[in-house]
Amino acid sequence: MAGSKPRAVVSGGAGFIGSHLCEELLAREVRVLALDNYITGSAENIRHLQGNPDFELRQLDVNHGIFIGGDVRYVLHFASPASPPQYDANPIHTLKVGTVGTMNMLGLARAKGATFLLASTSEVYGDPLVHPQPEGYWGNVNPIGPRGCYDEAKRCAEAYAMAYRRTHDVDTRIIRIFNTHGPRMQVSDGRAVPNFMAQAIRGEPITVYGDGSQTRSLCYVADLVRGVLAALDRGDEFPVNLGNPEEVTVLELAKTIVKLAGSKSRIDHRKLPVDDPKQRRPDISHARELLGWQPEVSLEDGLGRTLEYFRSVL
Ligand code: UDP
Repeated sequence: MAGSKPRAVVSGGAGFIGSHLCEELLAREVRVLALDNYITGSAENIRHLQGNPDFELRQLDVNHGIFIGGDVRYVLHFASPASPPQYDANPIHTLKVGTVGTMNMLGLARAKGATFLLASTSEVYGDPLVHPQPEGYWGNVNPIGPRGCYDEAKRCAEAYAMAYRRTHDVDTRIIRIFNTHGPRMQVSDGRAVPNFMAQAIRGEPITVYGDGSQTRSLCYVADLVRGVLAALDRGDEFPVNLGNPEEVTVLELAKTIVKLAGSKSRIDHRKLPVDDPKQRRPDISHARELLGWQPEVSLEDGLGRTLEYFRSVL
């Protein structure tokens, strides 16, 4: 019976990661209320869940207050623009959803006696001077640069979660998500994976920013979502990195995608964006020990799956 199942509220539930999370929660017999204002999410991402009696979707901006009747066991805050061009296009909204939106979601968790989980980010480490990044590293963030609206909002969100735990005893989790890819990423969100895949499939030049020597570590979305649920079940109050430690340069990533796509696209170097982190790789020892979690999908395997998705939508 639907009423006996626990219920989760997922902000950003129609987004890339949020939609996969809703799917997995439903698979675990959790009822889901997804909230989204569609700034970057899309109803298309959760269309297949709409007939499920345990799934509900509400168009709502969490910055404007959240009023929900009934019981809630889990509050998961995933709403936010998350790619550099998207938060650059919506800097004030990005700041608000990390600060006011987080406060509202924490207020909901407090009112309902629910466990709260914050989707934080590797961006809290900024352009890191410590490599790989462990959770104990405080980061190297430029507050007034183009990434400041996202990085500082997420840092503030973490501070909010800790304050609600210390002051109101809310059961909180903080996960720091590193670069993730998979089906339902927006083709036009401007990140490296969607750009390179769309360009490779269309036979257009691959736009590598700078010389491409900057590194990233990419996690397949199914692995990430497994980690999110492990953190919800077994996490503690301290932040935990979730990402794949398999590190590549952006140039290697571009070449791998061209190869996997069987494309003839050439590499076209463009200007490196301001404050673009030079290196990024998660230290996941904490996730391994605390959650018994680690990624299972290799980089090439995951990229192959994501490429299939982009082929299906382009
Ligand atoms: N990048 C690139 N070409 C693109 C998009 C991104 O070379 O068309 C680079 C970007 O400068 C960064 C890396 O790829 O060094 C990852 O960028 P993304 O936007 O995916 O995420 P970030 O990790 O920077 O938030």
